[in-house]
Amino acid sequence: MELNSPVSALPLVGPAYARRLEKLEIKTINDLLHHVPHKYLDFSLSSPIAKTQHGETLTVKGEVTSIKNIYTRYGKKIQIATVADKTGEITAVWFNQPYLLKNIYIGESIALAGKVDWFGRKKALISPEYENVSGKLRSLHTGRLVPVYPETAKVSSKWIRGKVAFAFEALAQKLEEFLPEKVLDENAFLNLRDAIYAVHFPDSLESAQKGRVRLSFDELLFLQLKSLYRRSEWRQNTAVHQLSIDKKIFETFIKSLPFDLTASQKTAISELLEDLGKGEPMNRLLEGDVGSGKTVVAAAGAFASFINGFASVIMAPTQILAQQHFDTLETIFSPFKIRVSLITSAGVKKDLGNSDIFVGTHALIHKSVKFNNVSFVVIDEQHRFGVEQRAHLIQKSGKKKKAPHVLTMTATPIPRSIALTLYGDLDLSILRELPKGRKPITTWLVPPQKREAAYAWIKQQIKTRGIQTFIICPLIEESQIETMKQVKAATAEFEKLQEVFSDLKVGLLHGRQSMKEKNEVLSAFKNGKIHILVSTPVVEVGIDVPNATIMVIEAGERFGLAQLHQLRGRIGRSEKKSYCLLFTDSKSSKVHARLDALRGGMSGFELAELDLKLRGPGEIFGLRQHGFPELKIASWQDAELIKKARGTAQEATNNPDKFPKLISILASQNIAPN
Ligand code: ADP
Ligand code: MG
Repeated sequence: MELNSPVSALPLVGPAYARRLEKLEIKTINDLLHHVPHKYLDFSLSSPIAKTQHGETLTVKGEVTSIKNIYTRYGKKIQIATVADKTGEITAVWFNQPYLLKNIYIGESIALAGKVDWFGRKKALISPEYENVSGKLRSLHTGRLVPVYPETAKVSSKWIRGKVAFAFEALAQKLEEFLPEKVLDENAFLNLRDAIYAVHFPDSLESAQKGRVRLSFDELLFLQLKSLYRRSEWRQNTAVHQLSIDKKIFETFIKSLPFDLTASQKTAISELLEDLGKGEPMNRLLEGDVGSGKTVVAAAGAFASFINGFASVIMAPTQILAQQHFDTLETIFSPFKIRVSLITSAGVKKDLGNSDIFVGTHALIHKSVKFNNVSFVVIDEQHRFGVEQRAHLIQKSGKKKKAPHVLTMTATPIPRSIALTLYGDLDLSILRELPKGRKPITTWLVPPQKREAAYAWIKQQIKTRGIQTFIICPLIEESQIETMKQVKAATAEFEKLQEVFSDLKVGLLHGRQSMKEKNEVLSAFKNGKIHILVSTPVVEVGIDVPNATIMVIEAGERFGLAQLHQLRGRIGRSEKKSYCLLFTDSKSSKVHARLDALRGGMSGFELAELDLKLRGPGEIFGLRQHGFPELKIASWQDAELIKKARGTAQEATNNPDKFPKLISILASQNIAPN
């Protein structure tokens, strides 16, 4: 048995358990040892039975003097045992666990841990932890700080404790330190073995915490190393095409645009052009709020590629967004005779063989779609694609050992600490401001008692100002894929609102509609034939309908701030004043304070940072919804530790000789080159 043996190498762990453990991302014994408790039950206080007091949480030891099943009036079974030591006896009660009579027997030495309560008139421990202690040196489930682990169906903390103890006993000697002494000293980290011991068998909460810090550091360190190595690997490629940009011709393109570029668009475009002229392929992330004008930056790259005689590929996450890019690019490029084609699973538009720009969904990756001579690839809203889809498109557009220039775009304001950890391999361009002429959006919090009045106001606004309204349904489940539940909720809301706004035209948009239905609804909304569009939260963040100047967001408190900000970005796109109505039933002052932040004119980035502070791990702007990995041990909030891990990762990649053991681990995991 080795650390990297599969968990099934442990006694009594068969294929069924191995499958269950996989749900907890535990495949090897090493993974099991890195499965860190999320809390501890303090059963370290031991007491003679007679001295136990009501309300105390503690451990008692004694001999089982009776145990039996009792049937209640409702057909349920209760298990009642008595345990005695020299000083007295105590009752233990469990519910619906008749198998306990096979595990606990009269005469056995047992330890019970739990909170002292009353059972009828008897002093009792209700559903206590128990374990046989005869002949045992160390107790697992009682008499100490007892770890509680993330669990899954049929894998209890109790079960995990047993396996962890066995694995640690057997393999502790093989837990070899891989960080240099210097790093441990500078950060006052526990060594690896002590850290693992401390999280599973702590003698105090402080030592558990120290163990956790060390293991968090490792998790962050490996993530950062991965992105740093991805970066150096990418840089070893040569660019498919090194572009040269004729300033004069490029100026004609900029002048042909129907607007002046913002300062950050200008900066982003010059960063982009500089990269495109290099021999190594670009790998750049363009971050900017919804509406900040990322498309034109991508178009500038495509134009540069075109004047050098090469094609570009632009991949968007949904058909609607692909269609929108197609429309925009056709308009922008019509003066230049640049041929744009649209490729989605719904079909192919225009003659592909003669295209200069291929716009599409992941259908672009499909084998039968062929493009040649590509020098520039754009991936829009990349978090909505899998790593593999991304790699596929890049590979398909490049050649052996030659990669295309890649621009990735996202409207998700990623807090800096996260960007550095996960996207350390990308160069960053940021669009910090919105194009001029955008009026700030007035945002109101609307309590339930004002709902009717709000509807009346919306009705009047639509009728007198000729504007349109989005209504966003509550977020029901955090999920990247729209769930059926979400679709049902939107449909119900749609039906209700058709009655509320009976003299207006209400439309419905959700992800389960056919492409045809979606397009019909959207073009009706764009053409003003629909006044109110009811939509699920996950649908089409990027759609551009300037005449829609009111947005209602239901159950605002369920969203992250940056997410709300992003949704809200669909309005405020015209000269007309825009309003966002955040409906919330919540009375919590915390919720109100959080939502109030949306009224302060903060940017998406600032809101994302605030979310990170206020809502904490797992909930930051719906991490999961945005397809970011969640950390298992560390927290994204821990900026200090993230910084330290970053420093160490950089040191290790710059001076690999100083980190021999770490480097050999990375090589064995194919992270670093051998
Ligand atoms: P994003 O993709 O970043 O959400 P888009 O590229 O779709 O934003 O741009 C949003 C809208 O703003 C589009 O209608 C676009 O034509 C317009 N736009 C882009 N840049 C400017 C600018 N500099 N000035 C005025 N309008 C702009
Ligand atoms: Mg966009």
